[in-house]
Amino acid sequence: MSEGDSTMKIAVLGTGTVGQAVAGKLAELGHEVTVGTRDVESTLARTEPDGYGSPPYAVWARAHPAVGLASFAQAAAAAELVVNATAGGVAIEVLHAAGADNLAGKVLIDIANPLDHSQGMPPTLFVKDTDSLGERIQREFPGTRVVKTLNIVNANVMVNPRQVADGDHTMFVSGNDTEAKRAVTGLLESFGHTDVIDLGDISTARGTEMMLPIWVRLWDALGTPMFAFKIVR
Ligand code: NAP
Repeated sequence: MSEGDSTMKIAVLGTGTVGQAVAGKLAELGHEVTVGTRDVESTLARTEPDGYGSPPYAVWARAHPAVGLASFAQAAAAAELVVNATAGGVAIEVLHAAGADNLAGKVLIDIANPLDHSQGMPPTLFVKDTDSLGERIQREFPGTRVVKTLNIVNANVMVNPRQVADGDHTMFVSGNDTEAKRAVTGLLESFGHTDVIDLGDISTARGTEMMLPIWVRLWDALGTPMFAFKIVR
């Protein structure tokens, strides 16, 4: 992947709200997108709405015929860039299923949050302060260029940033590879993000992952997930 690339082969690992939103947007922008899942047949056979009340994957897939569906490993193997849109607690397991070899050398956009829902709402973070999910992923897959981003807004805002304050808000990128962050920033700008701050190496993902406790309380207080953070300076 280089800055000059206009369209890419992209794997979006995750069939949930985020996977669908990001895959749909990337396909709309002309990228060749394959969504990754544990088992294609059982994912397509689901008939129940997901935990957020979104329609089952097959309904979304019918409306997005250009987007493929494959196993995590097949999707990652064919991709130039990979997006992790899986539940935080299983992210590392899913990335192992995708295969370290299939991720090696590639940019991995990590959107997952380390949320622990086991004690109900609001969720807590299962890693924080001295470590982060982004760092755990980077340590586990040292050959992959992990860039943490987009995890601080709702799936809709990720891909339609202009729906909040006409896009006048801030997004962050964290990662060890400057070139990877620059390329991801270009992708974010193609989504409509206008103010992308490079926070530094992957340890700065601690900061954005720890924005989740305030995010969930704002959601409750405002009664809508359609908000974002703006850094004034
Ligand atoms: P999700 O329900 O958190 O995750 C769905 C994906 O996780 C599916 O692809 C599913 O695989 C996989 N998965 C679940 N349990 C698994 C297991 N035991 N083993 C292997 N894979 C498993 O989906 P989401 O709501 O779209 O969120 C995705 C990530 O983005 C999360 O980390 C979330 O915290 C973060 N995030 C979400 C939002 C939002 O607006 N929802 C905003 C910011 C960040 P299958 O496809 O096989 O079912």
